[in-house]
Amino acid sequence: MSLRIGVIGTGMIGQDHIRRLTQVLPGARITAVSDIDAERARSVAALLPDARAHATGAELIADQTVDAVLIASWGGAHEPDLLAAIAAGKPTFCEKPLATTQTACRAIIAAEVAHGKRLVQVGFMRRFDPYYRALRSTLDSGAIGAPLMFHSVHRNASAPGHFTDDLLIADTAVHDIDISRWLLGTEVAAVSVLAARQNSRGRLAEPLLILLEMTDGALVDIEVSVNIGFGYDIRGEIVGETGTAALAETNPVLLKAEGAFRGAVPADWQTRFRDAYDVELREWLTAAAQGGATGPSVWDGYAATATADAGLRALRSRARALVTLIERPALYT
Ligand code: NAP
Repeated sequence: MSLRIGVIGTGMIGQDHIRRLTQVLPGARITAVSDIDAERARSVAALLPDARAHATGAELIADQTVDAVLIASWGGAHEPDLLAAIAAGKPTFCEKPLATTQTACRAIIAAEVAHGKRLVQVGFMRRFDPYYRALRSTLDSGAIGAPLMFHSVHRNASAPGHFTDDLLIADTAVHDIDISRWLLGTEVAAVSVLAARQNSRGRLAEPLLILLEMTDGALVDIEVSVNIGFGYDIRGEIVGETGTAALAETNPVLLKAEGAFRGAVPADWQTRFRDAYDVELREWLTAAAQGGATGPSVWDGYAATATADAGLRALRSRARALVTLIERPALYT
């Protein structure tokens, strides 16, 4: 039987997740949608066989035809809908960020802990990418010894006009922050940030170089940019005590001809992480059908927001900023 899903936020990624749930993955049906733009919600519902459009997320969550909720609205709007979904006991997938303030993240953690079991999966899709999973398996196998450093590179071809240097950390590097925590299995203790000189191709002083000091002493450097021009380039290399392991290039064919070799660079994140998004929602559907959640938790969402906050403080002050987390509840150990 199909899981009946209500989608809150029918913008770009909300519509892409609806496509994935209705055209790519088995086991799901969209029975309700809502968006702050009522007309957008109605037009998305009209393209689905049996979805109704609701005026608010609260109404959608209360809908008896909704078994599980997918939240893809703006990050600042996630908290009330997550709290309502947890109160209703409905499994929920929430796009990153979990919430835009640590106070909101802590309220969501408290609600889920009070509920007594995990209901929420946060949309850090890199954890479902086959390349990152292979990198983590290599590390876990002991092939390179204990990790000492992780080099992470996150280059976007271009960014929309409204993009700010704050978003370079809170929206873009937050993926590198989460994957660093996941790969290395530790929290971030402190963050420092340096900006390159003004990029003549854009308005921002970038790339940024972000240094994470992990709680066990390992180091992570993140190069993040949104104006690299040539494509969407993701790199990652772990330096271990006895070897190194790096993400492979993703193109299926490497051409050697006329004294040169070449392969394709993905154009954008939708292309690079297509498989990751599919696996992410496939695993969510399986867990949600059993009334629970898997993968990135609300704790992971909170830790990422707290680390990004420290990054923003470091960017503005040009000084090293400490990351202070609340005690981790047993639900997330
Ligand atoms: P978007 O195109 O602006 O879509 C967001 C939609 O939510 C818009 O239709 C917006 O309406 C609507 N909305 C805003 N507040 C709402 C509320 N209170 N209730 C219901 N709907 C509301 O943005 P997007 O790019 O799809 O991003 C949505 C979320 O996904 C963000 O949290 C973003 O960080 C995340 N995201 C994650 C990834 C990833 O790689 N995991 C990639 C892209 C986006 P208006 O346009 O009228 O404000």
